Amino acid sequence: MQYELPLYRPPSEARSLILQVTIGCSYNKCLFCGMYKGKRFRVRSFSEIERDVGEMAEVYPYARRIFLADGDALTLDTTYLLKILDLINRSFPHLERISSYAGPTNLINKTVEDLRELRHANLKLVYLGIETGNDDLLKKVNKGVSAAQMVEGCRKVIDAGIKLSTIILLGLGGVKGSYAHAKDSAKVVNAIDPHYLACLTLMLGPFERAYEKVMGVGFKFVDKWQSLRELRWLVEDLELSDCVFGTQHASNYLPIKGHLPEDKNTILDLIDFALETGDSRHLRTEWERGL
Ligand code: SF4
Repeated sequence: MQYELPLYRPPSEARSLILQVTIGCSYNKCLFCGMYKGKRFRVRSFSEIERDVGEMAEVYPYARRIFLADGDALTLDTTYLLKILDLINRSFPHLERISSYAGPTNLINKTVEDLRELRHANLKLVYLGIETGNDDLLKKVNKGVSAAQMVEGCRKVIDAGIKLSTIILLGLGGVKGSYAHAKDSAKVVNAIDPHYLACLTLMLGPFERAYEKVMGVGFKFVDKWQSLRELRWLVEDLELSDCVFGTQHASNYLPIKGHLPEDKNTILDLIDFALETGDSRHLRTEWERGL
């Protein structure tokens, strides 16, 4: 089998088999995201998927985890996705979980019942970028949903019994929008109450100029200290019931891992220590952040 590159998966899926059920992202309009800009979106035919699953099952018959690529497999019609999940479950008898990315626009037309059926067919984990809870910013970065729609879609996933892994993108609002981004994001994350929350830091590469242009006159990217302040403003407001929290992603300056709510004060102490000492040696260098 041959993948249509580039291929992305969450870091925690490093040991999973990757099966492309779609190519690219059905939405593909988020201003900060260049992952699938070079790909024209398409749904892979069942015969293509069947061929890949057959080849994978021959080589890895004991596979326990499968990640559905590319950018938002949940865009697929529920009946078609169930047919694919059924094929996977029959082909890998030792399978423990199937996971995929989802975009919030995918969830607008999915019902909790749809998602429950997918859960029963072994879809146990969905990764979704909230990015921000600030409505102005969601609109500017063209995420395609409001904060309220984000909460509604994410709650459907959780109410269906699927684990939800979410992302907040530090730095998205620049210096001026930093506080509102952090505070509104905490509100949305609290309303969702996800099982996992990761913070990543905005890294745009060649898209920096285009981003500045859309964000308007006076926009300034946050530096490492502002990104830590933003992280503190976010974490201090988080009221979550049972969430694995992490900033270990390579884009971040300060890698932290903890469980909320019980590690909240420890996490805040670590951020405060880095901010108070103002010593860059406690942070990743720009070179170490290179992805
Ligand atoms: S929905 Fe996700 S993959 Fe698609 S453009 Fe937005 S951030 Fe990128």
